[in-house]
Amino acid sequence: MSSFSAGKEVLSYCGKCKLPLAHTIISMKDTSTIGKVQCKTCQANHMYKDPATKAKKVKSAKKTRRTSKKSVSVGELWTEQMGKADNGKATPYSIRSEFKNGEIIDHKKFGPGIVQTVVDDKIEVLFQHELKLLVHCK
Ligand SMILES: [Zn+2]
Repeated sequence: MSSFSAGKEVLSYCGKCKLPLAHTIISMKDTSTIGKVQCKTCQANHMYKDPATKAKKVKSAKKTRRTSKKSVSVGELWTEQMGKADNGKATPYSIRSEFKNGEIIDHKKFGPGIVQTVVDDKIEVLFQHELKLLVHCK
């Protein structure tokens, strides 16, 4: 570590600017400890603040910020669910068959889809371009 002395430049955290900035050392506590510094940006005189310890606090505070949940389109959801599902297990859709939650079906018109919810004789199926309500168990 380089030795400091009054008049030399040092990087210190500035409470006014709220940034680690270049400061001029005004006085030393002892030969290796910096006392007072002057901010080169706002000219304020204050005690030396180690920018490393201050930076850590700033970083952890920022981490608490929640990552916003991005909205997913039907197409993206479909691709994701089809990727997770076992390929080649699609059941051809028929009004007479019974379908379960999460089942992959193959619809003549809409193509492959994933059953999202089952409500009595209706199933909500996610197809590549839209969410459809179909009838089953007839
Ligand atoms: Zn300042």
